[in-house]
Amino acid sequence: MESRVPLLRVLVLLAAFLFVPSVAAIPWQTYTCAGKTYKGKTIEDIYNNALEMAERARERVYAVRHANFAKFLKPDEPFACMANNIKWLWGTKPHAHLKTLTSADKDALDTVIANYDKAINMLKSGNVVLYCDSEAWDWLETLSFMLGAWTHRVSSTEQYIRLKDAGQMLPIGEERKPICSDNMLGSTSSGHREVTNEAGMVVDRQTVHTIILCLGLHTRQPATLSADYTPAVSSRFGNPDDYGSAAGTLLHEIFHTLGEGYDDKVIHGNFAYRYSNAVSLAQTRQADALYNPDNYRIFAEMSMAHSKTRWGAA
Ligand SMILES: [Zn+2]
Repeated sequence: MESRVPLLRVLVLLAAFLFVPSVAAIPWQTYTCAGKTYKGKTIEDIYNNALEMAERARERVYAVRHANFAKFLKPDEPFACMANNIKWLWGTKPHAHLKTLTSADKDALDTVIANYDKAINMLKSGNVVLYCDSEAWDWLETLSFMLGAWTHRVSSTEQYIRLKDAGQMLPIGEERKPICSDNMLGSTSSGHREVTNEAGMVVDRQTVHTIILCLGLHTRQPATLSADYTPAVSSRFGNPDDYGSAAGTLLHEIFHTLGEGYDDKVIHGNFAYRYSNAVSLAQTRQADALYNPDNYRIFAEMSMAHSKTRWGAA
């Protein structure tokens, strides 16, 4: 009899995941996205999937944070899979041999939950300008500032959106970076929206979060992940990087819009992208992992994994 109580508690907690995913129209201003598809999915599909995986991830971290589960965990239980995914990606130790979370781990998971909340709120806000390829952008040089910048002139207006992040606004003559390249599915820039008068004088300037998805150049990653997604893996220890998706990339980019601390962290001389780098960061510099966009992307994508993989929990 004694074992039935924990089992019930696990079932109650798992029931929390049986929610209906949000389906919403994109609330952002979009350019070059209308009618575009990637692997048969529209940008609305990709947006909705990013929102769904963020909400799932948030629910899972919340369940682990608020459960007194550890004493009845067995390694193959779905709950243990979730707890282990959290352990690898944020350096906490909600693991079978511990009876409870430490207060430091509770604080860390509260930070993770708060950051997913911020990302979900940004996804639902109107505060992002989204592009689905690079075709809207021209490299324009501003002689008065001796700078060149990727610039989008909003058609038939005197509004210009200029990207101002590193490598995007350069002294005239320096080599510019392409907006989209083979190794980049998405990028984020804080840009300026400038409005000029007929004489070309800037009369208004606002900062805008600009996300560019480079959908046209990529064919390897799936567009979206279904809730029981199973990559083509030969064992249940499949590589989490096989879950990389356009929707996950959009979620990664959303984290960059949350503030200055949400930049890509560097580990071993490289940006902490992809699973092994994200895990290394979490195990050695937890404080950085808690603000590294790719840790959030990877956990969210793993939250869509089928239960027959090690990463699955549903
Ligand atoms: Zn990034």
